[in-house]
Amino acid sequence: MFGIDPLYWMLMAPVFLFSLWASFKVKSSFNKFAKVASRSGMTGAQVAELILQRNGLGHIPVMETTGFLSDHYDPMKKVIRLSPDVFGSNSLASIGVAAHETGHAIQHAKGYKALMLRNTMAPTASIGSNFAWIIIFAGFLLGTMGLVKIGILLFSIVVAFQLITLPVEFNASTRAKEMLASYGILGSTEMVGVSKVLSAAAMTYVAAAASAIVTLLYFLLRSGLLGSRDE
Ligand SMILES: [Zn+2]
Repeated sequence: MFGIDPLYWMLMAPVFLFSLWASFKVKSSFNKFAKVASRSGMTGAQVAELILQRNGLGHIPVMETTGFLSDHYDPMKKVIRLSPDVFGSNSLASIGVAAHETGHAIQHAKGYKALMLRNTMAPTASIGSNFAWIIIFAGFLLGTMGLVKIGILLFSIVVAFQLITLPVEFNASTRAKEMLASYGILGSTEMVGVSKVLSAAAMTYVAAAASAIVTLLYFLLRSGLLGSRDE
């Protein structure tokens, strides 16, 4: 139903192109700076461990995981997991990503508000992203506006979650860059590469948020809650 609705594609086309561009950009900038070795020779894992220690978080393990750009901080288990390309590599891209993940661990330890809010919203947002579509679809099919509204409300939580993710991600990258520079891990020319990789990564989160907002707009237009119902 939504998949063949021209209104949906009309709204989504620019977001879709932006998402494609962002995902291309993050891969290309990572691959570019994955070829540039840092002067210090430190690997992503070593940088993460050093930053954690400097912040009194030496108890947080830094582990290797599988996948490409699968790096993350797990707030439940309090563990940093780095992808194979980041964990053992001394490239600028690896160090940038590793430092970014420690940024999340520090946010968590310091009780950074946006991250705390994001963690609180995560379970509901996950339910929303899985079931909102089905509820809205069922509502349209049965002609039950109440169901459509419940689905849209649930999807609004997904949008809010994507929006609160933005300051969390930007802040983790800002922390990463500040620490890499102030701890003397990277020189100022090396920081340029790190900035490019982290900025590109941030764009993928902007694309995800834009996609959620536009989808919500589509639901609101289609349900007649916003504007006219018959177009
Ligand atoms: Zn992040």
